[in-house]
Amino acid sequence: MTDLNSIDCDLLVIGAGFAGMVAAARASHLGLRTVLAGNSGSLIFVSGLMDYLGVYPMDAKGVLDDPAQGLACLQSENSTHPYGGISHEQIIQCFEFVKWILGKEGLAYHLSPGRNLPVLTAMGTFKPSFMVPRTMEKGSLLFGEKKRLLLIDIKGLQGFSARQAAGGLAKTLDEVICLTVEIPGITKTIPPIILAELFEDPGVQESFVRQVLPFSNRVDIAGMPAVCGVHDSLGIQQKIEKMTGLDLFEIPGIPPSIPGLRLKNAFEKRLAALGVKFLSNTRIKDPVFNGGKFIFTGVTDSGKLSISAKGAVLGIGRFFSKGLNAGRDKIMETLFQLDVRQPVTRSLWHGTNFLTRQGHKINQAGIETDQRFRPLKKGGQPVFPGLYAVGSILAHNDWMRLKSGSGVSLVSACTAVDDFYQGVTKAKI
Ligand SMILES: Cc1cc2nc3c(=O)[nH]c(=O)nc-3n(C[C@H](O)[C@H](O)[C@H](O)COP(=O)(O)OP(=O)(O)OC[C@H]3O[C@@H](n4cnc5c(N)ncnc54)[C@H](O)[C@@H]3O)c2cc1C
Repeated sequence: MTDLNSIDCDLLVIGAGFAGMVAAARASHLGLRTVLAGNSGSLIFVSGLMDYLGVYPMDAKGVLDDPAQGLACLQSENSTHPYGGISHEQIIQCFEFVKWILGKEGLAYHLSPGRNLPVLTAMGTFKPSFMVPRTMEKGSLLFGEKKRLLLIDIKGLQGFSARQAAGGLAKTLDEVICLTVEIPGITKTIPPIILAELFEDPGVQESFVRQVLPFSNRVDIAGMPAVCGVHDSLGIQQKIEKMTGLDLFEIPGIPPSIPGLRLKNAFEKRLAALGVKFLSNTRIKDPVFNGGKFIFTGVTDSGKLSISAKGAVLGIGRFFSKGLNAGRDKIMETLFQLDVRQPVTRSLWHGTNFLTRQGHKINQAGIETDQRFRPLKKGGQPVFPGLYAVGSILAHNDWMRLKSGSGVSLVSACTAVDDFYQGVTKAKI
């Protein structure tokens, strides 16, 4: 551990997943002395797509083209949802902030206010998303004039099969041609991260282009798994487009996800530039609230340190990230032991139909907050002044079903930090 065994800051952000990264970026952008603690490795699981609201109501058969319309219904029927007190305009501003932050590190996103974009998945289905990596944006052209598609997979890359994806597209498109490209020297399975790094080599790009070129007159557009480089993905994609004369788009796949790795890299670089102190791989324990301040213990493999903070943002995720723990009869929050909104008994956690469109109640369990994202006690009062909960730990948001994961994360992170900042500013006046 460093020689620092005690740190003082304005805001401690606990959890370095997507929500924690956005909160830390917002706080340091506002000039708050910010510490971020956690493991950013969870970001390599995320798809890189940033959904606002893709389905509403929960049991809807179709998807939403216009998330603002869904938001209006959601707010009239379900004011406890994390979006309950936030306007469409505020939500767009939060998306724009994240787009701007990532753009500063060369990670370009497409944001189309007003409508969701259909994104082709590895299953050959289309998923509505709101802010998508620019490298995936052109996939939505399959809904317009581009009807002859070349679907490319790569020999040795597991988890993406052009044939499987093509199976779902036969009805939508005029023609789908599948092609397996071979990368020189790759004879067996190759992890996506190594493959993405190989794509940064001009020799590999040329070999890829040579195998694609014979099809360029037969199709309008080409799709490939999201392995088009780790660092300058858009630059590499545009170079391949130029060399083949074809529009190209990336298709998100299963974890580990290269778009997730790109996000992790971009956030880490930007936070360093903004002066955030990132306590990487540090687990926060033993919170104490005393004299208007929080004191935490940070634990790593090599030691401990003490962190005092005027405020704290809790972005510790759900079960997989250990922010929530499912006991025999009860779901617990693992750091502050906050009340967790949950079904009355365990038998109600899941319904009997696994694929039910209503979703399972356990996916709506989580921390209940006010509209400023302050966790609440049983009586409805904030638990501590200066404590906020953000991201997937929030109650009333079945994000997989509603397709609202990153949207709720980034909106709660920005709104909570803005509220804390206003409190600090007022206290100074
Ligand atoms: C596989 C996958 C696919 C996804 N696809 C999409 C998608 O297509 N569209 C979309 O919009 N969203 C998607 N999301 C969801 C989106 O990324 C969420 O917004 C995000 O995962 C929620 O992030 P979070 O930061 O709240 O929690 P997490 O990502 O779970 O991060 C929580 C972090 O807190 C850390 N932590 C826990 N306890 C402590 C502690 N005591 N001290 C320090 N750190 C702690 C954990 O180690 C973890 O790193 C996807 C997520 C996953 C996992």
